[in-house]
Amino acid sequence: MITKDDIVEWLKASAVVLGENAEYLTDLDSPIGDADHGINMDRGFKKIMSKLPGVEDKDIGTILKTAGMALVTSVGGAGGPLYGTFYLDAGKAVAGKGELSADDLVLLLDAGLKGVVRIGKTRLCDKTMVDAIHPAVEALREAFADGKGTVEALHLMTDAAHKGMKDTIPMLAKKGRASYVGERSIGHQDPGATSSYLILKTLMETVESNPSA
Ligand code: ADP
Ligand code: MG
Repeated sequence: MITKDDIVEWLKASAVVLGENAEYLTDLDSPIGDADHGINMDRGFKKIMSKLPGVEDKDIGTILKTAGMALVTSVGGAGGPLYGTFYLDAGKAVAGKGELSADDLVLLLDAGLKGVVRIGKTRLCDKTMVDAIHPAVEALREAFADGKGTVEALHLMTDAAHKGMKDTIPMLAKKGRASYVGERSIGHQDPGATSSYLILKTLMETVESNPSA
């Protein structure tokens, strides 16, 4: 069972992790983009932190939708609208809920993924965040279907996100700024897939540190 406090903690811990990794993400964005992904994510999550106190006592759907709006309104470029839609659509999928079952968690992440795919018009292997999130959601769904507990399932999800992130290295970018550099995108890890891995890993760590999981 995932509680509302877990979700609030996930967002807070994500803000810390993305702040710590801002330089790393921006470095990844420099050979194949415009060297701002870390700056964008850090700015967006600082905005989420400023909005969180106003909604912390609301339901999980409202909290996630507020996070999504904060990203859409504060972050430019591709990352803001894409991650904003991820949280907005994730929030809509669990509207009104104060805690989440295994099925709800899959629903939440899958809705976020579908939102990114819809807005980004992205397929697997386009070398984007979708290449980390998609296998992660599939792994989580399979783990729960196999009867795994929440923490073990989240570990399997994180492993799949990590593999998906690494799998972007040999890919040719077909979406976003990285696609402008064509063949030169090959050999570089996608920054968005990397931030997605960090965010999903943070979800696992947050839930793992909560003894009620
Ligand atoms: P920008 O590219 O506008 O500078 P960011 O640097 O913040 O924005 O984000 C870049 C990341 O956004 C990429 O690494 C990629 O993962 C993701 N991205 C770009 N375009 C798309 C898209 N159409 N669909 C999904 N993800 C995308
Ligand atoms: Mg960029």
